[in-house]
Amino acid sequence: MTDFAKTRAMFHIPEGMIYLNGNSLGPMPKAAPDAMNRFLNDEWASELIKGWNTKGWFVQTNTLGDRIARLIGAPDGSTVVGDTLSIKVFQALSAALALVPDRRVILSDNGNFPTDLYMAQGLMKLKDDGFELRTPAPEDVLGQISDEVAVVMLTEVDYRTGRKHDMKAVIEKAHANGALVVWDLAHSAGAVPVDVTSTDADFAVGCTYKFLNGGPGAPAFIYVAPRLIETVEPFLSGWHGHEAPFAFDTDYRPMPGKIERMRIGTPSVASFALLDAALDAWDEVDMDDLRVRSIELSELFIKEVEARCPGLTLASPRDAHERGSHVSFRFEKGFECMQALIDSKVIGDFRAPDIMRFGITPLFITEADILKAVDVLEDILKTESWKDPRFQIRGAVT
Ligand SMILES: *Cc1c(COP(=O)(O)O)cnc(C)c1O
Repeated sequence: MTDFAKTRAMFHIPEGMIYLNGNSLGPMPKAAPDAMNRFLNDEWASELIKGWNTKGWFVQTNTLGDRIARLIGAPDGSTVVGDTLSIKVFQALSAALALVPDRRVILSDNGNFPTDLYMAQGLMKLKDDGFELRTPAPEDVLGQISDEVAVVMLTEVDYRTGRKHDMKAVIEKAHANGALVVWDLAHSAGAVPVDVTSTDADFAVGCTYKFLNGGPGAPAFIYVAPRLIETVEPFLSGWHGHEAPFAFDTDYRPMPGKIERMRIGTPSVASFALLDAALDAWDEVDMDDLRVRSIELSELFIKEVEARCPGLTLASPRDAHERGSHVSFRFEKGFECMQALIDSKVIGDFRAPDIMRFGITPLFITEADILKAVDVLEDILKTESWKDPRFQIRGAVT
């Protein structure tokens, strides 16, 4: 059994705070300051340029990729980290489209995270070749997979509602229709068990600052099925993906047969130190245990909120198996109510127009946290303290 008391002790949570936002930005691992100091003093300060070899900076895209691969059911050598998730979406989608050259439809859904749709729109404009982006409601996606579709591009767990696609069913139907699938695992990696191998996934991308706790701006990751890698065209053809980066050839040739071709340019090595420290927390976590715990805590939260907080309606699927690891409620004054919660040190977030979102992250959340959070929420609703004018002010980031 995974020892969640042990993982909880690995994170710094400010005194008195109940942090239900690990789905948006994970908390700082206690090991992070030392890891950053080691990077600064023992690597950058002392090694300088030699660090690319002596400290393995150049291969960390892969060593960290392998650590993430374990969490998504991918084999070693199939996943690399670097860049941002938006970039990785572009890379995966452009590569996937090129593998199905005779089709022009990209199928996504209207619950997808906007940047994924924006990246698709930019790519379509760049290609200027009759592409069409279809965004039906998430529950209609499966029915819309046909032999017109080139690529199905989905976020497995909906960032607003937590609704979870059936990865296996989507992939099976897409493959039967000659289409490929790009999965965004932003709300899946570290949140739910994922198995890109047994589901026969083609491409998967994700970020590492949410459930994986790599820190703000932590690098993204990309997985390409080993059966595809040799034929995958890296359109963001940077020198770190070249067959021989230090041959300084004037012509691009992708690294043959290896995931390295999905690297682009010089990565943010400092952030690798933080990600590496954060991934230590996962070493002894069994993803099935995590899922069981996540469901227990989510069910408790839903039950308590529904019993004690009239006016809030569940926006997430009621069936736990159709959810990821966050729970959302609709409330007309959701923004103000969330500000009041945050003021009382219960941290969730708000997504327009009316969604209050709560990340359920078993690595550091307990039943006592859940019950306390609902106490605070109940009190805010009873006293209507959310009406305080200071809770109406909107910052740049919600
Ligand atoms: C968080 C998230 C992103 C963010 O992309 P960045 O490039 O890291 O800003 C993209 N897609 C999904 C589905 C997300 O949940």
